[in-house]
Amino acid sequence: MAKLLLKNINKVYENKVHAVRDLNIEIHDKEFLVLVGPSGCGKTTTLRMIAGLEDISSGELYIGDRMVNNLEPKDRDIAMVFQNYALYPHMNVYENISFGLRMRKIPKKEVHEMVLNIAGILDIEDLLTRKPAQLSGGQRQRVALGRAIIREPQVFLMDEPLSNLDAKLRVQMRSEIIKLHNKINTTFIYVTHDQIEAMTMGSRIAIMKDGIIQQIDTPINIYNKPANTFVASFIGSPQMNLLDATVVEQDGELKLAFADAVRCINANQQLVLKKSNYVGKQIVFGIRVENVSLERKGYMLPFRGSVEVIERPGSETYTYISTQLGTIVSKMPIDTNIKIDDNIMVYFDDNKGFMFDKE
Ligand code: ADP
Ligand code: MG
Repeated sequence: MAKLLLKNINKVYENKVHAVRDLNIEIHDKEFLVLVGPSGCGKTTTLRMIAGLEDISSGELYIGDRMVNNLEPKDRDIAMVFQNYALYPHMNVYENISFGLRMRKIPKKEVHEMVLNIAGILDIEDLLTRKPAQLSGGQRQRVALGRAIIREPQVFLMDEPLSNLDAKLRVQMRSEIIKLHNKINTTFIYVTHDQIEAMTMGSRIAIMKDGIIQQIDTPINIYNKPANTFVASFIGSPQMNLLDATVVEQDGELKLAFADAVRCINANQQLVLKKSNYVGKQIVFGIRVENVSLERKGYMLPFRGSVEVIERPGSETYTYISTQLGTIVSKMPIDTNIKIDDNIMVYFDDNKGFMFDKE
């Protein structure tokens, strides 16, 4: 159990790659923080600096109240589970889980109790005498978790621990890891490139791009108030529709000029715009797929287009509509009556629209 503080942390590798820039995060005691971002954005580098496996180029790292920049990994009281969790192939599950404790010369009886306790938490009591080759991917992953948590670390770091599992197992293990966190009450920092894992697992999410944190907040706040177009398009699937527009003043009213026509915007948006004196400015208008309808329903901002693609993955219909502004995606109920090449109108619930600075 511990809080962590990352203060102005930078990492510049010897080849001059500036992998992490001015990172500032406070991670609360017992929190489940997810660090998410595309491949190469600096997630693993960040975790390795926290674990002490990589030098910090500048900045300060605190675990609890201790500045640990120069502390050896073994003295940081941290456990880490990687994507390629390597179990010892010649040892059975019991031996794999207890290996670290036996190295530390902890009495056999105590080790035995701890292994049984961990096996109970992870539901692997029946597998203790099996070798890794006799286990499924998910079972192996559980053993790897068991081996890490048996040391009762203050902080638990996980680097894409589910990315080698098949889709169904990945979904199952997500909730297993959440349950594990609830049971062992330790600070977790979980790295993933998968926005769904981030949204479903994190009590807070830190979104990273090119070594820079873009936003840190709860999943719901990030969904409802994305800080910029990167966050807006990274979170949510299919991704938020983003359309270029210019703010114009017409007949004393503020409106948005899109590529095909000028459209009124609702009062809420106008207030935002008036305050910041946006007239003449290019912006990006964002709207999530669930706020794009094929029925008018009193919505404003109609666009004309033709149906390009229809997806029905389950309880809903995603329609990809080709318009003069590019493809717009709409989410509708499963029974929506539509077919490819239909010429249709799409309507935005513009109350739910976002305005972003053009980057
Ligand atoms: P992620 O885990 O988000 O995919 P990484 O932290 O692995 O990203 O990498 C961040 C950046 O640092 C990338 O540009 C990567 O090529 C670079 N990098 C990672 N490790 C090293 C290293 N040991 N030496 C030099 N550059 C590295
Ligand atoms: Mg990585």
